[in-house]
Amino acid sequence: MIDIDRLQGWFLKHQRDLPFRDDRDPYLVWVSEVMLQQTQVETVIPFFVRFKTVFPNVRSLSESDPEVLQKLTEGLGYYRRFKLMREAALMIMRDYGGVFPKTYDDLIRLPGIGEYTAGAIMSIAYQKPYAATDGNVIRVISRVMGIKDDMRIPANRKRINTINQAWIMRADPRLYTEALMELGALVCTPKKPQCEQCPLKEACRSHQQQMVESVPFLSKKPSKTVITYVTLILEDNDHYIMRKRTEQLLEGMYEWPQFEAESSTGVLASLSAQGIEIEITKTLPEVTHVFTHRIWKMSPYRARLIQGMDQSWMRIRKSDLKDKPMAVAHSKIPIE
Ligand code: SF4
Repeated sequence: MIDIDRLQGWFLKHQRDLPFRDDRDPYLVWVSEVMLQQTQVETVIPFFVRFKTVFPNVRSLSESDPEVLQKLTEGLGYYRRFKLMREAALMIMRDYGGVFPKTYDDLIRLPGIGEYTAGAIMSIAYQKPYAATDGNVIRVISRVMGIKDDMRIPANRKRINTINQAWIMRADPRLYTEALMELGALVCTPKKPQCEQCPLKEACRSHQQQMVESVPFLSKKPSKTVITYVTLILEDNDHYIMRKRTEQLLEGMYEWPQFEAESSTGVLASLSAQGIEIEITKTLPEVTHVFTHRIWKMSPYRARLIQGMDQSWMRIRKSDLKDKPMAVAHSKIPIE
């Protein structure tokens, strides 16, 4: 059993001064928790500050132009989460009269809000004892309890959540949730945890049994799929030719026309067969972008459109390019 008062006391003394902690308004807690998913705190801070200024409340988010929202969050990755946030904001306006839902059951109904985010909002914003179990928390609890099970397996993660839920019932929900997350971020880090500074070291089985580095155990991830693309920075006088993605990955983002292919020869031939003639004007350096489950290897070319147009393409004035939300994978391509 851990000493919860000690954990909470440690947090009050050592917590970082983060903009998300200025205000525990449920809307802002939600925004910060969504941004922090899969993204480092330092990366999130400027995005959060800008977001809070542009969309200070649910209503403003619900009325947002999807492209402005995408532009504002460009660079954070996992864009779908913001599309779902906007859908959730619309639902809050429609079904809850614009008042942020106050119960776990209502929160979990909203698009993009899962057990973790609902638990974080309930505990941090509303001071209610609902567990929020993310990767940091899984690491801390599995180490403290000396649980060596594979945390890639959902049932094992669920057991950690059960322990977290039991502990929060005896705690100050907001302090406890933030303390456990902060401990995982600052002290009980994945590599070289600072056990000597840890308020939980007396109770920690992994520390006592010197197995800190091997807990939590995570089995090997399936390897990433590598996809090779020919990517065309396609110009038509003072316009670029682009496409807006409809695929789930990066949905709604603008991208250069690209084709799964090893070289440009077959791409040009198949475009020509569809009545689209282009001329390659420059070969650009290769660019690689790594996603969670896949890797894009892109061979980019500058090219000029001579005739024809694919129905998925659109003309974007060159001077407007900077205002268009673009996937990092494609904004990494040096187009000059
Ligand atoms: S004692 Fe070490 S391993 Fe255990 S919770 Fe603290 S930092 Fe993590």
